[in-house]
Amino acid sequence: MNNAFENAMTQLDQAANIMNLNKDIYAVLKQSDRVLIVSIPVKMDSGEVKVFTGYRSQYNNAMGPYKGGIRYHWNVSIDEVKALSFWMMIKCATVNIPMGGGKGGIIVNPKELSIGELERLSRGYIQKIWREIGSDKDVPAPDVYTTPQIMGWMRDEYEKLVGHSDPGVITGKAIPNGGSEGRETATAQGGVYVVKELAKKLGLNPSETKVAVQGMGNVGGFMAKILHEEGYDIVAISDSKGGIYSENLDLNAVFAHKEATGSVQNLEGTKNVTNEELLELPVDILVPAALENQIHKDNVDKILAKAIVEMANGPVTPEADEILKQKNVPVVPDVLANAGGVTVSCFEWEQNNKNEHWTEAEVFAKLEPMMVQAFNEVWETKEKYNVAMRVAAFVKAIERVAAKMKI
Ligand code: GLU
Repeated sequence: MNNAFENAMTQLDQAANIMNLNKDIYAVLKQSDRVLIVSIPVKMDSGEVKVFTGYRSQYNNAMGPYKGGIRYHWNVSIDEVKALSFWMMIKCATVNIPMGGGKGGIIVNPKELSIGELERLSRGYIQKIWREIGSDKDVPAPDVYTTPQIMGWMRDEYEKLVGHSDPGVITGKAIPNGGSEGRETATAQGGVYVVKELAKKLGLNPSETKVAVQGMGNVGGFMAKILHEEGYDIVAISDSKGGIYSENLDLNAVFAHKEATGSVQNLEGTKNVTNEELLELPVDILVPAALENQIHKDNVDKILAKAIVEMANGPVTPEADEILKQKNVPVVPDVLANAGGVTVSCFEWEQNNKNEHWTEAEVFAKLEPMMVQAFNEVWETKEKYNVAMRVAAFVKAIERVAAKMKI
């Protein structure tokens, strides 16, 4: 398994070489500003106390308060959290929002906890990190397996501890709790704006563009739905248990089947595929929207897609990236493709700070030009230096961060 932080540092090195990055700035960017490691004792329903480990990495705040989600997953590690916080720094700077990079996580399988245990764990995490967060300091949000309800418990716990209201301390909240319209679908919607720009560059016509989506969570599920509404041809989709493939996939039937059986597989008229096989299907655009390290040196030669749009964080390893670049397969990197989520988080924070509430139409009217501009800046930088889009995004982002750091 690739070490996520090493991957992130390899990507930093590639960009630093291309742009001749000042060595002092480079030295600072090789480290996270601060990493908190906390133990969270939770009284389980059985009466027994279990101690969970949590992290929060505050990578860099040159552009604004640290920003990034909190992940609940059994594979969370300090290296993964650090890598994800570094990518958040790059992501926020790629779309040019006034936010730095942060990320948190707890080593836990949330599916094994009762609702009460989950609440106590979430409040316990805030009890350990509250001094280091705040709307002007570090603003967490949801990530893998964390929800608006969890954000609500965390906001409440934080406000009890500081003794005053601070709705912008956390984003991805439910709408009645200060959440933004459109936040739920923002990551997917941002990805769709990116796909549309990419299709223009590649001369692809939506109705003739076959798309495979790996993942059916908040990102993959909405992405498939919105792309379908935009006229794209979704031919394969999967959840954590596996996927299905059909040249005539009926997406509504897929969602109904998943709702009824808990899985997408075994739907009449479709072929079951594993999550690995889904990546190797003959499609135009492949959208990995689940977890990291999905496309690596051992399967990259089997990838038939004409382009990849990374909606998960870190789904393509650096070795695979290199090979895809040689094969002229554009990879729209996570830091650009899935930046719609954090951009609308930033809008949520802005609305909270100004005590405003924008309509969904207002939110997407602001999001679209930002995604389109970021895509085109990255595309131009890629052409200028003849590098992969990821390197181009890193160059653009690090230029912005470095300019702030210098001042
Ligand atoms: N977890 C999301 C990401 O990786 C969103 C972060 C946020 O909204 O702050 O981009």
